[in-house]
Amino acid sequence: MTAGDIRSISVIGAGLMGHGIAQEFALAGFKVSLHDTSNEQLARAEENIGRNLAMLSGMGLAAGDAAATVRTHLSLGTDLEAAVSDADVVIEAAFEDLPLKQGIFKTIDRASPKHAILASNTSTLLPSALATATKRPEKVLVSHYFNPPYLLPLVELVRHDGTSDETVHVMFELLKKVGKTPVIVRKEAPGFIGNRLQAALFREALSIVEHGIASPADVDAVIKGGFGRRLAAAGVFEIWEIAGWDLILSICENLFPSLESTKSVSPVLKEKVKRGDLGTKTGRGFYEWTPDSIDALKKRIAAILVAIAQEQQGGAEPH
Ligand code: NAD
Repeated sequence: MTAGDIRSISVIGAGLMGHGIAQEFALAGFKVSLHDTSNEQLARAEENIGRNLAMLSGMGLAAGDAAATVRTHLSLGTDLEAAVSDADVVIEAAFEDLPLKQGIFKTIDRASPKHAILASNTSTLLPSALATATKRPEKVLVSHYFNPPYLLPLVELVRHDGTSDETVHVMFELLKKVGKTPVIVRKEAPGFIGNRLQAALFREALSIVEHGIASPADVDAVIKGGFGRRLAAAGVFEIWEIAGWDLILSICENLFPSLESTKSVSPVLKEKVKRGDLGTKTGRGFYEWTPDSIDALKKRIAAILVAIAQEQQGGAEPH
């Protein structure tokens, strides 16, 4: 099978990630079957897709008839076996729970065509752990999107030892066809690339707060007003090519000994969770939240991601 043979995509789980992944493939003209065990979630997914498409059309990132295109190509349902019965590629985006995902992989292995590639959007589980639930480990891999999947181009493709080169190649080409920027993770490792990097940054951020060096708001201000802006334009290896590796070497030699290297999670975070200060969903985390300030934060993030997507639309990647 080549990427050009793929017509039918099934997405399992219609939550935050699943609806956005399904939307993108439907918009690109694939026949998409979106499955969830909950009818309520499917109805919400439909609503969210409508809202996303209106925003994307309004910003010039989707055609005016995007909603009609998606309606034509997308079907929704609660019958898992029916959802994957003619799939060329299945992308699973259900809850992050290993036994649950293994159960889904077992069913989709049985119910989907023999040639179908079975991918998971898991953030933390390893593809080898999902492949064992199937009789086609060579066709199993992780395709890890970032939220929101219709605005962030990156998809990490994570293979396990038994994933075939053909599977990786077909998924890579398929994702490129729908405008994504796939990156191949050669060796499975918890957190893949993106979440390892984010966790390393967050461990240091928590340590800075824990040791009274700065407040959470000032840590965020440094990221937003400083190196965070640069990171949207160039990665660490690119940026530091400009600074020069001699300078970077001396910075690393001076700083590494004092950086956080703990293997346990900061008490600052544990205390927050113990108190029920979970962030926007409880109205308090490291900040205080009101419905208006939550809405303003979400709008600010979306506006900046849209602006970057508009800037980069049609632009060639440097490599
Ligand atoms: P979510 O809770 O928004 O959605 C999960 C959906 O799965 C729900 O609609 C739920 O009804 C459905 N579901 C549960 N059990 C199911 C089953 N047996 N069969 C079919 N559907 C089932 O979660 P999410 O944030 O969309 O995350 C989904 C996956 O994507 C997880 O593996 C998560 O780790 C990963 N992921 C999340 C993000 C993120 O930023 N939220 C980013 C990348 C990857």
